[in-house]
Amino acid sequence: MARQDPLTGLPNRLLLRERLSHALARLERNGEACALLLVDLDRFKPVNDTLGHPIGDALLKKVADRLRSTVRPTDTIARIGGDEFVILQAGVRDAASTQALARRLVDLIGRTYMVEGHLLTIGASVGVALAPEDGADADKLLKNADLALYRAKLDGRGTYRFFEPEMDARMQARRKLELDMRQGLARREFQLHYQPQLQLESDRLIGCEALIRWCHPERGMISPLDFIPLAEEIGLIVPIGEWVIRQACRDAMTWPDHMSVAVNVSPAQFKSDRLVETIISALASSGLSAQRLEVEITEGVLLRENEKTLQTLHRLRELGVRVSMDDFGTGYSSLSYLRSFPFDKIKIDRSFIKDLTSKPDGEAIIRAIAGLGKSLGMTTVAEGVETSEQMQRIRLEGCTDVQGYLISKPIPADDLLSFLADQKSIV
Ligand code: C2E
Ligand code: MG
Ligand code: MG
Repeated sequence: MARQDPLTGLPNRLLLRERLSHALARLERNGEACALLLVDLDRFKPVNDTLGHPIGDALLKKVADRLRSTVRPTDTIARIGGDEFVILQAGVRDAASTQALARRLVDLIGRTYMVEGHLLTIGASVGVALAPEDGADADKLLKNADLALYRAKLDGRGTYRFFEPEMDARMQARRKLELDMRQGLARREFQLHYQPQLQLESDRLIGCEALIRWCHPERGMISPLDFIPLAEEIGLIVPIGEWVIRQACRDAMTWPDHMSVAVNVSPAQFKSDRLVETIISALASSGLSAQRLEVEITEGVLLRENEKTLQTLHRLRELGVRVSMDDFGTGYSSLSYLRSFPFDKIKIDRSFIKDLTSKPDGEAIIRAIAGLGKSLGMTTVAEGVETSEQMQRIRLEGCTDVQGYLISKPIPADDLLSFLADQKSIV
């Protein structure tokens, strides 16, 4: 019993280990290859959370039955975690049979289940490691199958991946980046650069967007595109984002009164509950008025936990903070998001501006968004304006504000004041 999972009756991790070491012994003795397939259920947790554990348990039993139905008697199926299963495929002659099994698993588990009157659909991600190619000892095989599984999940779940050596290298690079980022935060290696925004009607600079940079001791200046995604994934964006908000408020206090500051806030920050408190505290300790702070969110923020997110947005709005929809037009259903919250500003994604002078329908899209903004009472900012030709078109199409290299690249906080002074003398 100590080697069996009580719920499904399948071998547990302990028995799997035994079978695996037997298989590896056979491999050594007579060259009989084997394969390890790590199966992780997709979307199981929501079933468990919303319908309750008894239904979750019943579903797991059905999954176990399906697994049993698709392997040979010489193979081992084990349950090694809540929704994690392992299949040890014995006597593997070629990788094709393992691939066929992996494909079968994804297909079979992904078919609909009927559990106590509920129609349920879950999926499976599968990571595969082969012995001897990917390792001839148990730990290495399990580790490599896990790396392959991680890849399968990154690639959108509901699929299988075979281990490849560069997965290991990539994972190590990721770990190093994570470590570096934690250190970077402690050692104050992050900086904010500011990109001015021009109001077309008044021809005045009315604010700046804060854009983070990482000044890495060995790698030099790192773009946010290269570390923000990982920071979001591992939750480190919360302390980093908190620093951004506080620093941006402090910096904006040194600017002319009519200039506001915009910070980018990512989905993970909305999930963390602390966002509103952080903003209140940053405004209070810097002395910046809430009207001068703007948060930029992307559709990703509205994609999940919609109710709670909207509540947070309304709380920010009550404080007097403005809210912009960033990268507009690149997501899925921008229009319905515009209806779900009264944004102050729409930032039209740079990709549309780029097409403006090259594609015939480029203008029509910008004109439509500008018109939409106008009738909804929202400002429309054209992002990534690089040429005066683009600028001219944008004026014609009715956008209210412009941000882009034509006005200025993002500039280090220390250089911003002299830039603003120069502008004044030009105008
Ligand atoms: P974003 O919020 O859409 O910011 C605009 C990006 O476009 C910036 O890239 C800016 O440098 C770039 N850009 C502006 N004008 C032009 C132009 O005329 N031509 C070209 N080619 N590019 C232009 P950057 O600074 O690399 O930032 C990339 C993204 O990283 C930002 O996109 C934002 O999503 C994210 N990000 C930056 N700082 C933060 C931050 O503090 N927190 C979070 N969560 N995300 C940040
Ligand atoms: Mg932005
Ligand atoms: Mg943008």
